[in-house]
Amino acid sequence: MTYYFADHLLLTNGWAKQVRFQVINGRFANLQPDSQMQQHDIHLSKPVLPGMVNLHSHAFQRAMAGLAEVSLNPADSFWSWRDLMYGLVAKLTPEQVYSIANFVYVEMLQAGYTQVAEFHYLHHQANGQAFDNPATMALSVRQAAQNTGIGQTLLPVLYSYSGFGSQPANAGQQRFLHILDDYLRLQEDLSSVQDLRLNQGICFHSLRAVSKHQITSCLEALPKHWPVHIHIAEQQKEVHDCLAWSQQRPVAWLDQEIGLSDRWCLVHATHVDASELEAISRSQAIVGLCPTTEANLGDGIFPATELIARGGRLGIGSDSHVCLSVAEEIRLLEYGQRLEQQQRNRLYNQHEPSVGNYLYQKCVSDGGASCAINSGIAEGNRADFICLDVSYPTLASAQPEQWLDRWCFASNHNPVNDVYVAGNQVIKDGQHKQQDAIHAAMSQCLKQLL
Ligand SMILES: [Zn+2]
Repeated sequence: MTYYFADHLLLTNGWAKQVRFQVINGRFANLQPDSQMQQHDIHLSKPVLPGMVNLHSHAFQRAMAGLAEVSLNPADSFWSWRDLMYGLVAKLTPEQVYSIANFVYVEMLQAGYTQVAEFHYLHHQANGQAFDNPATMALSVRQAAQNTGIGQTLLPVLYSYSGFGSQPANAGQQRFLHILDDYLRLQEDLSSVQDLRLNQGICFHSLRAVSKHQITSCLEALPKHWPVHIHIAEQQKEVHDCLAWSQQRPVAWLDQEIGLSDRWCLVHATHVDASELEAISRSQAIVGLCPTTEANLGDGIFPATELIARGGRLGIGSDSHVCLSVAEEIRLLEYGQRLEQQQRNRLYNQHEPSVGNYLYQKCVSDGGASCAINSGIAEGNRADFICLDVSYPTLASAQPEQWLDRWCFASNHNPVNDVYVAGNQVIKDGQHKQQDAIHAAMSQCLKQLL
């Protein structure tokens, strides 16, 4: 039975030295710090860290990332960006979605993400009709995960309306729409997969897009161990519209009408008040933050400092994929708090004063919870890990406890060297073995689309 031997390894409670371990059926086993390397051990001389969880992705949006940075209107906003996104959506085929997803999943793996929650709402043909197999698009993104080797929580999205109070959907949304029964059938069709790297969850696009009856019916009908994701309060307009409709803010409505719990991942809970923050913390719902996308779209800054002070949970996602860098997401998450509060070192706790160490480990564990997996390097958890190249002078001179701060706050290159998912090596020396073919397919796809 193969053993690995890591000179330095980040356990859930901190750095350990000389760690022997095994991978049995894709999971960590027999983790033994302070061991001696044995003759046939696979030696991991570079520091070993848990893979990061990317808790929010719309894979297809990678095709338009960076193309909405030209001012067309002094009032450019999230909503004008959304019009551009709908223009792309109108054209995409399942083959193109597969190519884009392969490409972005390889980028994620290279960045150190080993798990992605794919918030999948592009379901139907261009005319809004279901494909012969209604799961065609969902299978495109799932097959891309299998092909590239990343772990994936597939979140087929229920989307039925264009605005609060069940307003009819508009023309740009035709490819997203389901009635409840068709949505439940799609979930059932996708649920037979048997792969340690794949699972699935319940997903509501937003409170704008579904009714209370739909939410309660899905929670009733679908497995209770599945996670539940929703876009909740990304924009002030969404909060105002929700107040006009229900006299309640979005998180407050969800908590009072449905009931928050630790199954929920509240993506972009950007605009919350103190009582909503209290409800999120009390319920242990996970806040899904996508710092670079939220900055790109001009969303606002979530009060993460207060959430952490209340013992709440959060993780990171790359959402629209304007950035695929774990370090940049963590840095911007912290820097948003600093800029707003005009203070330094905001996100940490009394046990872990290093912001880099604290946020990295927190985003791994809380992000994993948002995918209904136990993540981090511990026995029984799926063997997702990355090896950092610390030969660069700033990293080479650092102590293990400083590596994550050096990487997250002061690296100008990506030090992720090797990446393993469920014990399978998917990135070696920064490269994926299908990279050339996947890049060629992406180039071809972009040529067709743009
Ligand atoms: Zn999103």
